[in-house]
Amino acid sequence: MATKIDPTTVQTISWETDVCDRCGGTGYMPYAAYGGVCFKCNKAGKVLTPAGRAARKAYMEARNAACVKATVRELVAGDKFSLNGDRWARVLEVKAPEGDVWYGKAGDVSLWSIETKNTNYLMDPDAEVLIWSPNAFLAGVTKVVNRKGSVLTFKTAE
Ligand SMILES: [Zn+2]
Repeated sequence: MATKIDPTTVQTISWETDVCDRCGGTGYMPYAAYGGVCFKCNKAGKVLTPAGRAARKAYMEARNAACVKATVRELVAGDKFSLNGDRWARVLEVKAPEGDVWYGKAGDVSLWSIETKNTNYLMDPDAEVLIWSPNAFLAGVTKVVNRKGSVLTFKTAE
């Protein structure tokens, strides 16, 4: 039996992949539909293996459960947030509507503008978000670190 890996030594975690069997790893299809992009791997040329997919799901469940939950109105600059744990963005600035300045409406709700490096998210101030933290990452890693399908890199000693 292999030695158990200490989750606190893990720097990054990703998931076991295999060459995409639809495009053969090129990321593109030989015909022009959708610009020729392979829609199974979305240009990546690789797809998660069943073990990789299962490990990712277990990691995300454990990590998301350990994330602090907040509402959009509680976000502050520097927070790394996500709606469902799939995509994460770092908050640069939070802008609440004020007086004549507003950012959009969803029904009767005045949306807030959450500015990040690549996108301004217009969001319901009462929407729940996950806040990333090292502890949440560690909870996810702990769940799957010794499991097939996880691909790890390790912290280097300083
Ligand atoms: Zn493909």
